[in-house]
Formats: sequence, C-alpha cells, structure tokens
Amino acid sequence: MPGKVVILEPPAETLAVRLYLPLLAGMALTFRKFVANVLSRKARPTIEYPEERRGYSDRFRGRHILKTREDGTLKCVACYMCATACPADCIHIEAGEHPNLAYEKYPTVFEIDLLRCVMCGFCVDACPKDAIWMTRDYELSYFSRKDAVYGIPELTEKPSDTAPDGPGYGYRPYYGESPARKAGQFEPSGLAVLPMTLARNAAINRMPPPPPKPPAPAPAPAKPA
Ligand code: SF4
Ligand code: SF4
Repeated sequence: MPGKVVILEPPAETLAVRLYLPLLAGMALTFRKFVANVLSRKARPTIEYPEERRGYSDRFRGRHILKTREDGTLKCVACYMCATACPADCIHIEAGEHPNLAYEKYPTVFEIDLLRCVMCGFCVDACPKDAIWMTRDYELSYFSRKDAVYGIPELTEKPSDTAPDGPGYGYRPYYGESPARKAGQFEPSGLAVLPMTLARNAAINRMPPPPPKPPAPAPAPAKPA
C-alpha cells in the first residue's frame, strides 16, 4: 500500500528573513571572532604552520622506513608478513635470493602505496624482523598517483629521518628507554612541542613510582625421603 505523502508548507517569510537579517547576524559573529583572533594571538587554537609545528607523540604513525643492518643491507627478509597483515593491501613485495646465505631472502621490490595506506601500523606489528618502522613525517604530498608509491630508495632509512630537524621515529615495536623518554620528553626531533604537551609530560614525571614488588615466597622445604 503506497504511503501517504505529506507536503510540508515552507514557513511564512517574515520581514527579517526577506531582508536577510539572520545572515547579517551570522556575518557579524564571524567578524567578531576574526577581530578577536587577530588581536589576541595567544587565544588562537591554530598554529602558524609551517613555521610552527606540533610536537606529535613518538607513537605517531607517519611515513614508513625500512631499517637496515650494520652492513647497510635491509633487515627485511621478504617474508610477506606485513603485506599479509595490511588491511589496505597497499604493500607489494617481490623476493629474491640474497647473495649472503645467512640472510637467505631479501626484497628486490618493496613498495608501499601511500595513497592507499591508512597508517594503521599493522605492518610494523606484523614484522618478525623489526625491519619496518614508522616516522612522524606527516608532510606527504604528491603531484601524481605514481609519486605516492614509495619503493626501496624512498623507504630505506636515511640520516635525515633522525636529524635534529627531521621528523624522528614514530610508531615502532620497541620504544626502549631513551634518555629523552625517561625525562618525559619526546625524542629529539627539532619540532616545536606545545606547552600543554610539556605540562602533561611533567605531570607524568611527578607521578609516584609504582610500589615495590613483594619478595618471592621462600621455597618449600624438601620432603624427607
Ligand atoms: S600502515 Fe597499515 S595500511 Fe599502511 S602499509 Fe602498514 S599495514 Fe598497510
Ligand atoms: S614483515 Fe618485515 S621482514 Fe617480512 S616482508 Fe615485511 S618488512 Fe620484510
């Protein structure tokens, strides 16, 4: 049975509506906020990017890096665990035989399509070789879809990633106890840290240490034979 169609009548147009007065009220509010923000820069929630940047957490999930061994080779052994775990299906790996038998396999192709990546960090969690980490680099922009597919040259970790003015490490399996972390600061990254972030870290540092663990119970005396 067809439903009943209700036709709503538009509200009667008042003189104020016909003169666009509600619109003027909205514009007045916008103008008031604009003047207040220009006169009082401290009250603004926005920052002067790119001169000013937020200090993101060292668990921030930004651009990936492939970690290397001391001899400069990639730690990755092309096991496909990251590609299997990736919910966006954006990792493409091709494996090859490594000339060094100890390493067995290595990726001849390792690509991440950063336009498909949802920055979930599952690839980092899945890696058994601690070979893929994320940085705090969020300045990812491209002129074409092809530019967004990062291969081994772009993904391999570079000194600039951890330079004082670089993005620094982000999401990774083990944060360790770096001196900066122990001091309640994020690792040095050259990025400005907001006062509220520093205040929060200071508050964490002021928290009392956890109570000592109770001593382990003495072992039961051996039964006589
Ligand atoms: S961060 Fe998530 S979506 Fe991006 S490559 Fe890793 S697993 Fe895939
Ligand atoms: S899970 Fe780790 S070792 Fe395996 S292919 Fe991915 S990055 Fe390489």
